[in-house]
Amino acid sequence: MDQILMIKYGELTTKKANRNTFITLLTNNIKNILKDYEIQIHKDRVRMYIKCSQKDTEQIVLKLQKVFGIHGIVICHKVNTNIEDIGFKILELLEHQSYQTFKIETKRADKTFPIPSMEFNQKMGGFVLKNTNLKVDVHNPDVHIHIEIREEGTFVYTNELKGNGGYPVGVQGKGLLMLSGGIDSPVAGYLSLKRGVDLECLYFESPPHTSLEAKNKVIQLASIINTYSGNIKVNVIPFTKLQEAIYKNVPDSYIITIMRRMMYRIAERVCKKHKCKVIINGESVGQVASQTLDSMVVINSVTNLPVIRPVACMDKLEIIDIAKKINTYETSILPYEDCCTIFLPKHPVIYPDMDKALLYESYFDYESLIEECVENMETITMLEPKISEYL
Ligand code: ATP
Ligand code: MG
Repeated sequence: MDQILMIKYGELTTKKANRNTFITLLTNNIKNILKDYEIQIHKDRVRMYIKCSQKDTEQIVLKLQKVFGIHGIVICHKVNTNIEDIGFKILELLEHQSYQTFKIETKRADKTFPIPSMEFNQKMGGFVLKNTNLKVDVHNPDVHIHIEIREEGTFVYTNELKGNGGYPVGVQGKGLLMLSGGIDSPVAGYLSLKRGVDLECLYFESPPHTSLEAKNKVIQLASIINTYSGNIKVNVIPFTKLQEAIYKNVPDSYIITIMRRMMYRIAERVCKKHKCKVIINGESVGQVASQTLDSMVVINSVTNLPVIRPVACMDKLEIIDIAKKINTYETSILPYEDCCTIFLPKHPVIYPDMDKALLYESYFDYESLIEECVENMETITMLEPKISEYL
């Protein structure tokens, strides 16, 4: 193992009391996501060091760049502790770069090395000045060149790669994401993971009105989000019978309101069953009739669980920007019908009335249908994401 990756922790460093919990969880998440690679992890309160083989570095870095709780990743190059090897490695790292100024910072952890850090900075600085066109700038250099001299060898590194920030997934416990095949809910899932919420997904399907392609699309979206977690399951609810009962018994304009109340009721039961603390969804204020504040009041009233809506106050274009960044957009726009879009009424109610909703629900025995939905739920564990899904 000839490569060391230095990990700088993200936002977790500000939470002093929880720090150890956060770091332990982050370590476990990293071990999980890198379980196919030979690695060794050492950590202290400010940094983590991952030893790996040079041939795996590129893939490992790709994976680490998705892990929440990491602020920066530095690829350290191990060389023998002698001036030539260190000098040539530095020149190699500066090659093909557009830096104009540099600064060298040596840390001499191995005190048996005879040259003190300051003196070594000057020596190596002189070497760089002689062999490149770069100039020294100790205050605001384009590139910091770090040299760490240790017993097992010397580590040379330059600038760090950006990590994903956020909190380690799981630090908040688990939430249940209502995942449709649309653009908004995968983004809502990503944003929740970023705040440390572990996810299970819940998908309502209505075959034969919705297709197998629609279901596979949702699984594909879950698989993309899984690159940020490594731990995701998708629960699929067979919604057809309940949905058909709604269409049969409820006046057209209230179909969507009642259908979404049923979705929330089912979500609440799945939360209890699978130990999820909150419901998460991709609702955005005002986006469609069922997402006006009045609709939210009537729909939300069936559950006491908190409903987190990470994209509630974002414009569609802002949501799309994130969907593109996290690679869900191209899958989300595939044209398969969701159970919310089949038999869409012409004039869904925009300002629903609670009493009317309750009245229409009394027209049929939805309780037993809800129970049947939850009993027949299928749970799919996501496969290990392919490396192509990280690109
Ligand atoms: P998205 O909001 O994900 O782009 P959409 O716009 O088709 O999809 P809406 O009708 O806006 O979905 O529904 C709002 C939210 O309700 C979704 O973001 C999702 O969280 C949830 N939802 C809708 N349909 C389903 C479904 N079939 N299964 C699970 N959750 C769903
Ligand atoms: Mg939407």
